[in-house]
Amino acid sequence: MRAVVYDRPQEFAIREVPVRDPGAGEVRIRVLQSGVCGTDLHIHEGGFIADYPLTPGHETVGIVDAVGAAIDGLSVGEHVVINPNLTCGRCEHCRAGQPRFCPSFGGLGTLLPGGFAEYLVAPQAQVFSAEGLSPDVAVFAEPAACAVHGIEVLKPRPGTSALVVGTGATGLLLAQLIAHAGAARVTVASIAADQLATATALGLDATYLMDRDRLADDITALKALSGNGFDYVVDATGVARVQEATIALAQPGATILWYGVANERDRVSVSPYDVFRRELTITGSFSEIDTVPAALAMLRAGRIRTDGLITHRFPLERYGEALDAVRTDPTAHKVMLVP
Ligand SMILES: [Zn+2]
Ligand SMILES: [Zn+2]
Repeated sequence: MRAVVYDRPQEFAIREVPVRDPGAGEVRIRVLQSGVCGTDLHIHEGGFIADYPLTPGHETVGIVDAVGAAIDGLSVGEHVVINPNLTCGRCEHCRAGQPRFCPSFGGLGTLLPGGFAEYLVAPQAQVFSAEGLSPDVAVFAEPAACAVHGIEVLKPRPGTSALVVGTGATGLLLAQLIAHAGAARVTVASIAADQLATATALGLDATYLMDRDRLADDITALKALSGNGFDYVVDATGVARVQEATIALAQPGATILWYGVANERDRVSVSPYDVFRRELTITGSFSEIDTVPAALAMLRAGRIRTDGLITHRFPLERYGEALDAVRTDPTAHKVMLVP
């Protein structure tokens, strides 16, 4: 089969590699498409928790192609999605019900071969039926599962105001969930006018077009929009100066969620007195681990909508162009890699 293979950071090729038979408890999936996301840009640069050689791709929808011994409840021909994230199940964090902090955290597309390939082999525990869902909706199961975990961290109170900065697909999935979790008003802000139009079409309440070169003006304007700041402020950009700005956009007693993946070396400046005086909560949301079923339920119910999010599709051979689109193309929203 053909697959994207990295020998080391920044160096990849589309290569012919053997198709592996599924072992006991494993399922082989013929990949229909995989989403390319910002995390893949970090992996390209050698960041996140990647291990090389590597085939990335962690947002995959496909069709069960073969099953190993001891598989029940999944059959050949079934449409499925994967939960890429694996943990050891044995360390103190796993055994305490906090698998996100497992020192062996990793998975398909980071440590093991992922979905930027024609086939993918996964343990059955990581595979979920997506029967009845269009592959263009089901492919959002993993990013939507991350958004569900974002809600678990944020726990929005009813009747509150929220701001999501950053309108990438995952930001808009989370913004919709915040609305359904009880916020009275959800504003989204972004430098991408097209993505703001999609946000409006998805039913979000208000949008604001940012100019990151004039961030101080953006903060003033956004504060004016909200009265005096928001109850919940989410950064979905991973850009350090934007993350820093989320603190100024919070009203007293607010919760600030850093949801976008920042560069490991980034630092921001925070006033401890401000956090103390205004009783701010600054928190993070790392990754989904057990929220794929909830995400699939929300996608099936239409509580999370994905209409208009997929803007680009590239064949496997044009993986480099797919990365460039995610990195620099202002018209690219969700980019798919189709083997
Ligand atoms: Zn992703
Ligand atoms: Zn563990």
